[in-house]
Amino acid sequence: MVLYTPGRTSTYPGEPVRTGLRAFFLGGGDEVGNVGCILEDSTGTRLLIDYGLAPTRPPKYPAECPPVDHAIITHSHIDHMGMAPWLVGHLGTKLHASPLTASLSEVMWRDTYKVSKIEGYPLAWDRRDLEEALQAWTTHQMGDWFEIGAWKCRFHRAGHIPGAVMIEIETPELRILWSGDTRASPNVLGALPVECDILFLEGTYGNRIHPPRIEEEERFVSKVLEVVDRGGTALVPAFASGRGQDILRILRREAPNLEVHYHGMGTRVTQLWMEHPESIREPKGLSKTWRWCRRVSGKSDRRKALDANVIVTTSGMLDGGPSIWYANRLRHQRANAILLTGYQAEGSGGRLLLDEGKLRIFGNITPIDLEVEQFSLSNHAGQKELTSFARACAPRHVVIFHADQDGRDALSTQLAGEMKVHLPSNRVEIILE
Ligand SMILES: [Zn+2]
Repeated sequence: MVLYTPGRTSTYPGEPVRTGLRAFFLGGGDEVGNVGCILEDSTGTRLLIDYGLAPTRPPKYPAECPPVDHAIITHSHIDHMGMAPWLVGHLGTKLHASPLTASLSEVMWRDTYKVSKIEGYPLAWDRRDLEEALQAWTTHQMGDWFEIGAWKCRFHRAGHIPGAVMIEIETPELRILWSGDTRASPNVLGALPVECDILFLEGTYGNRIHPPRIEEEERFVSKVLEVVDRGGTALVPAFASGRGQDILRILRREAPNLEVHYHGMGTRVTQLWMEHPESIREPKGLSKTWRWCRRVSGKSDRRKALDANVIVTTSGMLDGGPSIWYANRLRHQRANAILLTGYQAEGSGGRLLLDEGKLRIFGNITPIDLEVEQFSLSNHAGQKELTSFARACAPRHVVIFHADQDGRDALSTQLAGEMKVHLPSNRVEIILE
């Protein structure tokens, strides 16, 4: 299926920019996920930041991108990079990222391609675009300036997941910071603020006051120990890129005697992380953790894992993958439990489990009579972290994106007196001066 007709379905304004900076969100402006934003100024320099798809069912895609020579991809999550192969295949765009993000792209794109085939979802790019995109990367180390048209850009560590960057941009008129997400995790240090005129801030949890991370980690570990003490196995569904590795590090730190098995796409991701120790918080801790847990590869490993204390596996929202296979086996033993480690999207397996105590297992809606608990171990900053980060950047303008209406409103209320707040809509230009 063709989603875009290059040059025909784009609604990007035709006129050049007179003064200031134009920002035009293709997606992710007034929603979480499928981020893509075009920045352009009067020098005619045009840059795309991120081009992702939201892995909902069915996926959400950003609007068609107008011709653009350069795109910077902030990090390797699919809602930020999932559509990048289309750019390369159809517009010949060059891709820029940190070395780790570039090397993770292959795993992420191949998985996206595979899932779209299995689920029968349309994808605007094909295998050939994917192969071309793998050749389209230019990588930059943190802190090194590089030029995009009349602009100078450099990356700063963003927090969130290893390899993620914030982008500082110097145009002839303005200094811009594209912040991405800024939260620290067991595997990555948090972001440091950069003073700027215009701040683009991801507002994912703008209306949320997170429980202190360490307390939530403790609550998680004590629940795991409780399940193990009663003779059960804790199934911990977690994303392949970030959460899973965080959980392993927390468990090794707090309960090193547990027998913890890891299964899923995160195996390849973790290997790539370890090849980029400069992107990891205490990289030795990660390699030790990786040796400490037992990695499941074959079928007999899977069956052995059923006797483990903890199984950490994908998918994080119980939408298929090994987590469903394990849930199906573990559901018959009441001592077992399913521990969810973050947000469960509308329509996801995890959401169904929380709301109705059921899971879709190999096509059948199946009651799950196990203890289910949810923990907030998110790698997205909460309201306090976002507002103090924004204040420390001291911008004249803040553009809050990648958030739902509640998140945007909450942040806007907090920051409005101190800077001009912009709440963008997709496909509507904003001019920042
Ligand atoms: Zn992300």
